[in-house]
Amino acid sequence: MARVFNFSAGPSALPESLLKEAAAELVEYGKSGMSVMEMSHRSADYQAIIDKTEADIRRIMNVPDNYKVLFLQGGASLQFAMIPLNLMVEKKKAYYINTGAWTKKAIAEAKKFGEVVVGADSSDKTFSYVPEMPAAPSDVDYYYICSNNTIYGTRATDLPETGNVPLIADMSSNIMSEPVDVSKYGIIFAGAQKNLGPAGVTLVIIREDLIGKAPTTVPTMLDYKTHSDADSMFNTPPTYGIYMIGKMMEWIDANGGIDGVYKTNLDKANLLYDYLDSSSFFSATVGKKDRSLMNVPFLAPNDDLNAKFIKEAAAAGFVNLKGHRSVGGMRASIYNAVPMAGVQALVDFMKKFEAENQEA
Ligand code: PMP
Repeated sequence: MARVFNFSAGPSALPESLLKEAAAELVEYGKSGMSVMEMSHRSADYQAIIDKTEADIRRIMNVPDNYKVLFLQGGASLQFAMIPLNLMVEKKKAYYINTGAWTKKAIAEAKKFGEVVVGADSSDKTFSYVPEMPAAPSDVDYYYICSNNTIYGTRATDLPETGNVPLIADMSSNIMSEPVDVSKYGIIFAGAQKNLGPAGVTLVIIREDLIGKAPTTVPTMLDYKTHSDADSMFNTPPTYGIYMIGKMMEWIDANGGIDGVYKTNLDKANLLYDYLDSSSFFSATVGKKDRSLMNVPFLAPNDDLNAKFIKEAAAAGFVNLKGHRSVGGMRASIYNAVPMAGVQALVDFMKKFEAENQEA
């Protein structure tokens, strides 16, 4: 069977060229005589892999020297706890913007450790927009946002005024999809399984002054200092996942760096949204200002047609288009690795479906 067009929200499509490269190296990596999966994480061969991956991330994202780049486990979800455990320590209070399921989970977790102020919330319209984000109050330990809400397909474009309050961003679903000024953030984190590689690694980019604040009662593995002091090697890191992230960095370089990837992402998203806006059959669920470049939810005129579309699309090789249960309809996740040709083919298929199913 041929490879399908995979619009999964995560784990998601990876570039075919990268998978083939990994396949070619699967049994014997370079001159090591073994697979990366079989290597000691303390070996020189592996050290070279993790060092290059980190250096490439720093260069590609222009990470300032006073930030640490960490490869952790536990998914983005563990960061929901590690952030308050490490940072909610002086004022015991944090400020959150609630833009849907992923921030709700982060808020629930933070409430276990201190006071949470929800500064803005877009639940009144099923999280289909990004609310105005107020300036940070001075009496909080940090200000928390999710830069791209995977489920609702929203993207925060304007950052709040946070002054001296560290800004924390969950970038799980839009990391490295567009240029970001890392110096504006205290912590950026992302599960790898959308834009960076396979599931199992969480990338954490953290400003050094935020490391070492955790009370002594915090478990060793949940203290950023543990991982920072050991350069992500306190225990066995997710070695193969980090190697794949390294490959993805080479792919980003080969595709024009973040600027090049961003331009393609804009072209892909515009193609799909322009069609949705021009169609009298399909519609986008998010208003123009807040639309995600990565996750595009859309609806057919009714639930029967949504179901019919998903079924026929899958049969034609367009898979994982079912929307999240809280939104319904469809969602096309068009992360970095989804090619323009895939989005074009999807739009062509949607046009055909529209013509065939238009009310008589
Ligand atoms: N945040 C966002 C924005 C996500 O999309 C996801 C996963 N879809 C998560 C957090 C949770 O990530 P993980 O499964 O790696 O814990």
